Amino acid sequence: MAPKRILLHICCGPCAIYPVQALREQGFEVIGLYFNPNIHPLQEYLKRREGLVETAERLKLKVIYKDADYDPKTYLRAVAFREANRCFHCYTMRLEKTWSVAKRGGFDAFSTTLLYSKFQKHELIASLGRDIAGQGQTAFHYQDFRQGWKQGIDLSKEWGIYRQQYCGCIYSEMERYHSDLEKVIEKK
Ligand code: SF4
Repeated sequence: MAPKRILLHICCGPCAIYPVQALREQGFEVIGLYFNPNIHPLQEYLKRREGLVETAERLKLKVIYKDADYDPKTYLRAVAFREANRCFHCYTMRLEKTWSVAKRGGFDAFSTTLLYSKFQKHELIASLGRDIAGQGQTAFHYQDFRQGWKQGIDLSKEWGIYRQQYCGCIYSEMERYHSDLEKVIEKK
């Protein structure tokens, strides 16, 4: 019997390592999808992309890069005036795209490396994935990839893969470095 094909949405190289290995161990043929218009700025998007290229070479993983669809407006319009709930819209945007590419490509299932991160809203991602898949033929594969957190981190360090300092969007970048701004303000 041919292996089941799964389209795995990938946010960055380090987060892909454990999920790809775990899915292959279960007999899946894994193809990656890099679609992340939430990442700001473009230079950061390119750095993460390069990290994924290096990771994919190590893992011998085929990846579909949706670079032509990198447009910050796609993300910003999805979250405008509802920034407090921005992760919900960000996950939806990326999962819907993955589902749609998987459906058109005749994949058996789709999933996301967002389920690997300890810093994401895990239950929300799982429930969105299930809702988007519905009862259709392209199922959402849920797995708690967080159990491989250390394994993935250790390998990404050993391989020297770029590791990001913030989640991705302009808001998360500001939150990450806001203390630097505060220091400047205090000095005035
Ligand atoms: S914090 Fe991360 S998941 Fe949430 S909106 Fe920003 S990039 Fe998306």
